[in-house]
Amino acid sequence: MNAEIIAVGSELLLGQIVNTNAKFIAEHLAEIGVDVYYQTVVGDNPGRLEEAIKTAEARADLLIFTGGLGPTKDDLTKETIAFHIGKKLVTDEVAMRSIKQFFARTKRNMTENNKKQALVIEGSKVLPNDHGMAPGMFAKQGNHYYMLLPGPPHEMEPMFINYGSPAIQEELETIERIESRVLRFFGIGESQLETEVQHIIDSQSNPTVAPLASEGEVTLRITAKHESAEIANKMIDEKEKEILQIVGQYFYGYNETTLMEALLKKLSEKQLTLACAESLTAGMFESEMAAIQGVSTMLKGGIVVYSNEAKMKLANVKKETLDQYGAVSKECAIELAENVRRLLSADIGISFTGVAGPDSLEGHPPGTVWIGITVKGKETGAHLLELAGSRNNVRRRTVKYGCYYLLQ
Ligand code: ATP
Ligand code: MG
Repeated sequence: MNAEIIAVGSELLLGQIVNTNAKFIAEHLAEIGVDVYYQTVVGDNPGRLEEAIKTAEARADLLIFTGGLGPTKDDLTKETIAFHIGKKLVTDEVAMRSIKQFFARTKRNMTENNKKQALVIEGSKVLPNDHGMAPGMFAKQGNHYYMLLPGPPHEMEPMFINYGSPAIQEELETIERIESRVLRFFGIGESQLETEVQHIIDSQSNPTVAPLASEGEVTLRITAKHESAEIANKMIDEKEKEILQIVGQYFYGYNETTLMEALLKKLSEKQLTLACAESLTAGMFESEMAAIQGVSTMLKGGIVVYSNEAKMKLANVKKETLDQYGAVSKECAIELAENVRRLLSADIGISFTGVAGPDSLEGHPPGTVWIGITVKGKETGAHLLELAGSRNNVRRRTVKYGCYYLLQ
């Protein structure tokens, strides 16, 4: 469903007031998945208002009007719309009662033109006005919906939130479902991912594909609209397949899944245990892992081997290795991973050694990191990272890369 917001009022055109109603409505429509392609402002003039209605009908399903529902002569919105869609105006008894009560309460005299405010478009759903007299309306005619809201923001806003938006959502349920799925990627930059799937992002409006990045991770949100949720999800399945054919090697999970959760899921499925030797991450990897419930069957434990002394004493790294290659080296990472795995009889050993920064170490710039991974019965490997960013940013991203490589 897409909507056009039509603000009625000559004060808007004269620049005397700002069209805050359109902003408010547009923001809330976005939240419920209704697209707004156009916003219109038109003066208190029936001829031009009718022109605006016709134009909007040609390009929107839902027309939302604000303003011109009051009792004065220049308030013509509902008369013009009723005439245009060929409906009569009838008195709404509930609205009439509340107008009478309002006058009794404020001890004012009710004039004939106040009765005009109880008139509503025949067959429309009446939206109560809890902060004023003019009720709102929601009418359906042919392929279009028309929502009429009062001009004053303190009346319009609560009416839209409490009655208008729910009425739209009720209709949305009957006409279309919005389903969405987030695909999460790691190990590929946002711009590279976007470039790879640009033709998919550009090509279609339903489903839509939207990228988003945060701390080394990139996500793509696929959103599909259809009256059947099942079909909307099938549309998403197809789009997902298309995307994963191109960048599937970087995909690790759906929606809110973190890399660590994806890793634990894999370890649990394969019934594998893990041991860690952490230098620059100093326990961060294990701490993040332990934050997830059910980890005890997978995490054997590990050691924090921050200094070279600790690397030698706790993880049996050979002095010659450190002398010859240094702590920030492939050789050190491999020894750490192999030794901790053996020490704890785990299926997998992982190690982290590197330069968090801000200073260089052993001639390596900050962000130089080696991750060693060893799996029982397989050859040990190590991955070199050259990360940019602050000290803790480097450490956090190292943890993520650790998960990522274990997921491969
Ligand atoms: P009333 O019963 O007060 O006459 P109405 O529904 O007829 O309400 P208008 O006469 O068009 O509405 O506007 C009343 C007041 O509401 C305006 O003077 C202005 O202060 C505010 N208003 C109207 N339209 C907007 C808008 N689009 N954005 C922000 N404020 C608005
Ligand atoms: Mg008015």
